[in-house]
Amino acid sequence: MVKGITLIQPRHNLAPKMGMGHIYMPTPLLCVASRLIGAGVDVLLNDENFEQYFRPTNLVGIHLGGVSYIPLAREIINERYLGHKYFIGGPVVNGLSEGQFRKLFGNNAFNGNLDSVLERELNIFRGDLKRPEETSLIEGYELICDEVMFEYLARESSLYVSQGCKFACNFCAADRTCKDPVTGKMKIVRERYRDLDVLREDLVYLANRAKRLGLSELSFYMSNLDVFQTPGKLLEFVNVVEEVRSKENVEFKLRGLSTVDSFLRTDDDIIGQLVDVGFYSVGFGVDGMTAEVWNKVKKGHNTEDKCLNAIKRAYESRITPELLMVFGHNGADTEGSLRKAYDFSKDMVEVFGAIPRPHVAKAFLPGNDGWTDLKYQSSVRTLLDHPELFHNLDFTTLPTELTHPNRELRLLTIKYFLEICNLPGNTTKYLLPIEEGMTSEQQKNVVDFNRGRYDH
Ligand code: SF4
Repeated sequence: MVKGITLIQPRHNLAPKMGMGHIYMPTPLLCVASRLIGAGVDVLLNDENFEQYFRPTNLVGIHLGGVSYIPLAREIINERYLGHKYFIGGPVVNGLSEGQFRKLFGNNAFNGNLDSVLERELNIFRGDLKRPEETSLIEGYELICDEVMFEYLARESSLYVSQGCKFACNFCAADRTCKDPVTGKMKIVRERYRDLDVLREDLVYLANRAKRLGLSELSFYMSNLDVFQTPGKLLEFVNVVEEVRSKENVEFKLRGLSTVDSFLRTDDDIIGQLVDVGFYSVGFGVDGMTAEVWNKVKKGHNTEDKCLNAIKRAYESRITPELLMVFGHNGADTEGSLRKAYDFSKDMVEVFGAIPRPHVAKAFLPGNDGWTDLKYQSSVRTLLDHPELFHNLDFTTLPTELTHPNRELRLLTIKYFLEICNLPGNTTKYLLPIEEGMTSEQQKNVVDFNRGRYDH
């Protein structure tokens, strides 16, 4: 017999302990929920940003929205689910070895990202789990009551459009092209779109649900890692959005991430049509400002001219450019390159109204190249022994001795990161780190300072 499971979206790590947490529709978890329901599993959903309660099912699944959720998931397990079997899922899990996974989550933990594990543990027939790309999220949306759905749809939500990126930036932990650390072979990744007929059904459902709740506009952050990477599919997506918009009489607001390279390769016509269906802001991954840095972090597709031209083109196309500056790369950045990154950000703010989004590069985190690099293994062990330090791997957390052992680079990174944070329109709220050896009083002060400082 197929079993039942409670899927948990943990309360945001920066949310206050009580009251409303950080409200953001947990789209990846809804995809899992829909796949399981489609395979006959009885699913309960608990977004703990609304409330925390114990659901009496034997099996639970916990979604890690990023590395900062590792300590939270451990807390949830220890406080409420000891003795239960639990699944841990989310992209972070793919970056952990079996031994690291066990050390962090114990022997009752299962990898919730693996279909073979879900089939075995939930008694699902092989083949009954649809591929994520073919899965409609409507079954998951139907688990959400109107009060909660209103809170989600009144805010920006994540829209699952595609997954995967063909590029290979070494600091990035997303699903991307990379070298397998064991075999040494390159794993080539291509952007994978969802079935657009299924996406259309989801949009129609959400449009109607929004209208019933008194909302006439839906705001989405597209899941694409590089919105303009596959222009032909993007155009098909635009046509779907336009069809739903005109038939259902609902407006869409869309934004997403892009490389400057893909954006510059896209025809004016496609960009114009995307803007016409509501695309209003694009986050460009600039991530450095010299050829040396870009080469060292395997982001050789960037040049200063391309960054400038992409931001200018976005501005002229009525799209607000966001300038994502992941910098402070160990072994690559220098005072000169950090200052250039700041100067460029400042110029783009002044000339093209770009929105600064500075982030601190973390050389090792589950899924990026540094995580399996021999030179970082002692730091990785420190993290596994002190999981509360995973908070320091958040890209908005200030660098520490652990993440940036070179004192000079650490101090310079802090200086220029905070200077970009001070530019007009900046949306990054920097976080204080937890240092090894801090007293509980000092840790509490850090937690108090960071509370509510969610990233944009
Ligand atoms: S940083 Fe952006 S462009 Fe580079 S691999 Fe990651 S998603 Fe792709």
